[in-house]
Amino acid sequence: MTNSVAILGSTGSIGTQAIEVAQMHGLRVTALAANTRVDELVKQARQLRPELLCIADESRYSALKEAAAGLGCRLLAGTEGLCEIAQHESTETLLNSVVGMVGLLPTLTGIAAGKPIALANKETLVAGGALVMKAAGEEGVPILPIDSEHSAIFQCLRGNKRGQLKKIILTASGGPFFGKTKEALRNTTVQEALNHPNWSMGSKITIDSATLMNKGLEFIEARWLFDLAPEQIEIVVHRQSVLHSAVVYDDDSVIGQMGVPDMKIPIQYALLYPERLPCPTKPLSLTDYGTLTFAKPDYETFDCLTACIRASEIGGSAPCIANGANEAAVAAFLGGRIPFLRIGELVNAALDQIPASPLTCYEDVAAADHRARAFVEEMIREDGASA
Ligand code: MG
Repeated sequence: MTNSVAILGSTGSIGTQAIEVAQMHGLRVTALAANTRVDELVKQARQLRPELLCIADESRYSALKEAAAGLGCRLLAGTEGLCEIAQHESTETLLNSVVGMVGLLPTLTGIAAGKPIALANKETLVAGGALVMKAAGEEGVPILPIDSEHSAIFQCLRGNKRGQLKKIILTASGGPFFGKTKEALRNTTVQEALNHPNWSMGSKITIDSATLMNKGLEFIEARWLFDLAPEQIEIVVHRQSVLHSAVVYDDDSVIGQMGVPDMKIPIQYALLYPERLPCPTKPLSLTDYGTLTFAKPDYETFDCLTACIRASEIGGSAPCIANGANEAAVAAFLGGRIPFLRIGELVNAALDQIPASPLTCYEDVAAADHRARAFVEEMIREDGASA
């Protein structure tokens, strides 16, 4: 288990909970990085006294310099700053919980420097899974998943023979719009989409949960993390988010991991791996829940999920295109520029109209991502022109 951790995305939902876990178990926090929130970042730094402090949004660097004066931290900015943290000698374990494709370069940099990666940035694996897993394999660097489903699968795979794994069951809460038709979702507001029943998370992942894009990204993430064929992943809607996922072995034994829906459990498992120590969370009471339910996903209404599975089957840059299109579309929806259902339409259109190509280096990933975002912006401009 690690003695210290550097946290990218420290002011977000995962980041703040990771700090709580680190403090409970006496792990030193050696570096903190936030996207834009200077005041919260400096407040964390005042308490934790990390060596390195980074603001990813470079336009906020002078604000950081002013606010962090006298703290004695080395101040950094931009993706360059994130990468510097990723490879710094004081970084023992790198926890990457930034949102979006921007997390890929720091992950690759951390792997090249031999740092174990506690990974909450799923877009990293969706966009650049081939590069990440190849590099991690070559460097012998462990990727410890923080996503609750992937942590569950990771835990269920321990102590059994990988060659006897038949498939995995990836559970999905179904989001706030479970059971709704496309027609019913036509006038969905940002506020409605941000209201998740079980998990409290950042706005991008909450919208992804409402469209089920999140489950699609997790489908692709699982393929990379656990080296699975698409047909080895069964997605099951489980409204209570108590069974965090399960694996099925050749003898049809199903082994699942359960717990209350609290990200501190997977965060702690990744940071303390392979130890299991008390966690600052509520214990699970199955009798309080009483009933756990399971259902098939609605692939027609939630076409982002379908797009991701399709992208995963196409391979190459297709998952990166779906992810980039989604990041641009979600930002547009949150900004009030497109209606809710347009997100899925744009992701599918990007996948249909941009040809997939092989990804052999970071530049290939960045180019595919850029092309998908530009495509979505162009489509939104056309929507505006024809409205
Ligand atoms: Mg998840």
